[in-house]
Amino acid sequence: MPAPYVKLYVGDVIRTRKAHPCGGDVWVIERLGADVGIRCRTCGRFVLMDRIKLERRIRAFLQRGNEPPPAEPEPPKEEPPGPRPRKAASPAPEPRPRRRIVKRARP
Ligand SMILES: [Zn+2]
Repeated sequence: MPAPYVKLYVGDVIRTRKAHPCGGDVWVIERLGADVGIRCRTCGRFVLMDRIKLERRIRAFLQRGNEPPPAEPEPPKEEPPGPRPRKAASPAPEPRPRRRIVKRARP
């Protein structure tokens, strides 16, 4: 499947299918936007062209201006879920001291 969208970068050097009246067919992309500004490498003329139109005219990229941004950084790897450190067993509650029932000797 061909990519429907051509990525263009400022600084790209392209060769177009149709040559400029000056005879040159190599252009440098200088402006990006709804219209793309390209400069003829042969005569130096600056032309604004519809992006879609330009994309159709590109025959080849001779040089890329900016490399596409690097792939998204990988998310930090999470530690594999290993055996969890055992929670220190809470000390058993101390047995309540039993109240000694002391039978009072009756006077
Ligand atoms: Zn030209």
